Order: sequence, then C-alpha cells, then structure tokens
Amino acid sequence: MGRFADKVAIVTGGASGIGEATVRRLHSEGATVVICDIRGDAVDRLIAELGTDRAHGHLTDMMDLGAVEQMVTDLAARFGQLDILVNNAGMGSFGRVTDIDLAHWREVMTIDVDAVFMASRTAIPHLTRSSGTIVNVASIAGMLGDHSFAAYSAAKAAVINLTRSMAVDHAPRVRVNCVSPGLTATPLAVGLTGNAEIMAGYGECIMLGRAAAPAEVAAGIAFLASCDASYITGHNLVIDGGMTAHSGQPNFTRILAGKSHLDEAETAIRR
Ligand code: NAD
Repeated sequence: MGRFADKVAIVTGGASGIGEATVRRLHSEGATVVICDIRGDAVDRLIAELGTDRAHGHLTDMMDLGAVEQMVTDLAARFGQLDILVNNAGMGSFGRVTDIDLAHWREVMTIDVDAVFMASRTAIPHLTRSSGTIVNVASIAGMLGDHSFAAYSAAKAAVINLTRSMAVDHAPRVRVNCVSPGLTATPLAVGLTGNAEIMAGYGECIMLGRAAAPAEVAAGIAFLASCDASYITGHNLVIDGGMTAHSGQPNFTRILAGKSHLDEAETAIRR
C-alpha cells in the first residue's frame, strides 16, 4: 500500500501549507495521520476530504508546551505506536532585533523551537520502540543571515542544530532530519509572494525562478521519513530552488554578456 503502510504519523500545523501537503503525501502512501493544529474547521475539512479512517485530528495549541506534551502522550497511547513525528508548525517573524520586543522574540522561540523540543522529547521514547523518525521543518533563513528575519533566523538555526544533536544522541534507533525550504507558496508567505517588489527582489535569487509548491517540500519530508532514507540521519535537506547554491556575487554572465567575458572578468578582478 505504500511506504507508510501501518505507520502512525503526527504532523503539527498539518491543516495548511507545507503541513497539509505532508499530511496528504503520508496519507496517500498508507500512513495513519494525525493532523495537529489550532484550526479545527480546517482540520475537519481535510479529514473529510481524505475520507478514510486513517485521517485524524487533534486540536493543539503548539504555544502551550504542556498541551504539546499531552498531545504526543495521548496519541501514542490511543494508537499504541508512533512512527513519524513531523515538527512543522511554526510562525514567521519580521524585524531586526531593534524592531521587535522580548514578548515577540519569546513567542517566535516558543512555537518555532520550544514546541519542537517538547514534542520531540515526548515522542522519542515511543519512536525508540518503533525505530521511528522525526522530520523538522527549518528554513534557509536558519542557514544564513537575512534582512529583518532576526528572530526567525535564530529560531530556525536552532532547529537545524537541534536536529543534528538529536540525531547523534538517539541513533541508531531514531533517525532525525530536517528540511530547509526556501520561499514556498503558502498562506504564511503571502506577505512575500503577494508583494510585487519583493518578488522582483527574488528574481535572480531563485535559480528555478519561482516559489516552491507545498507538495514539493512535502516530497522531501516524506523521503526523509521513509525507508528510502534508512541511512540518512542528522541531515538538513535544502529545498530552495537553488537559492543557497549562489554565493551572492553579481551575475557576471549577464553583466558581461556579449563581451569576451572571461577576459573582461579577469581584467575587472585585477583592477
Ligand atoms: P501555513 O501558515 O500555511 O501553515 C501553518 C499551520 O500551522 C496552519 O495550519 C496553522 O493553523 C498552524 N499553526 C499556527 N500556529 C499554531 C499553533 N500555535 N498551534 C498549532 N498549530 C498552529 O505555513 P507554512 O508556510 O506551511 O509553514 C509551515 C512551516 O514551514 C513553518 O515552520 C515555517 O516556518 C516553515 N517554512 C515556511 C516557508 C514558506 O515560505 N512558506 C519557508 C521556510 C520554512
């Protein structure tokens, strides 16, 4: 029936965007999936659409760390096993450190880092029994600096290195990996994808020339969660259309187009 037959998966923030696409992908490959989200209406709609007894919902506010712990404990007891945890729920954040206050910083850290810690620490004993796996959703913002993403970049960097730490600590029974998406067309990113000036700024940055579809990120998450990645742990899978393949230097090919550009470039560099 597929790579995830007889597997039980929890996807946090599973009612929209990358989480929703992940729920669809895991479910389509046979998993029993629990959609954990704060939006009950969206959870109910998705369960109805999936239309099998392998789709379940759990209303959880990932800001409430006690509720996160309870959610994982309850679900592991209810299904008698836990095989896959996808720590996807997160919030964006805009501002330099001088623009944001401590309350905002704490809010970002709570959902983007603390909830990953809490869900993982509760799930790991169950995943150890099932030889299960964790996939965290980080971001390319956690790999390099970006303008006005101070809290978000710090939080996602923490997720990437927490991934490595957990992979080291809990091998060989539990594999732990993360994905780092670039710009992905979800409701979270409409402030970017819906802004023509920002999209023009992305112009030369995204080698594949467009935002990712949520399903393209979900494909990477499903790969890492599957037996196809059985020898992969502690990995950060970058899904960014080539954005971080580029060092940020000017586009010499375009600027020097039509000229004998190797000579021109050499002269320019010597100057
Ligand atoms: P989204 O807004 O489409 O979906 C987020 C989901 O999380 C929603 O269903 C929302 O209801 C749920 N959620 C929000 N707060 C919650 C809470 N307190 N408790 C429980 N659920 C909550 O966003 P998305 O773009 O799919 O983002 C998913 C993950 O991907 C996030 O961790 C985000 O940081 C990361 N990411 C997104 C992009 C992008 O460009 N969209 C890029 C890199 C990383």
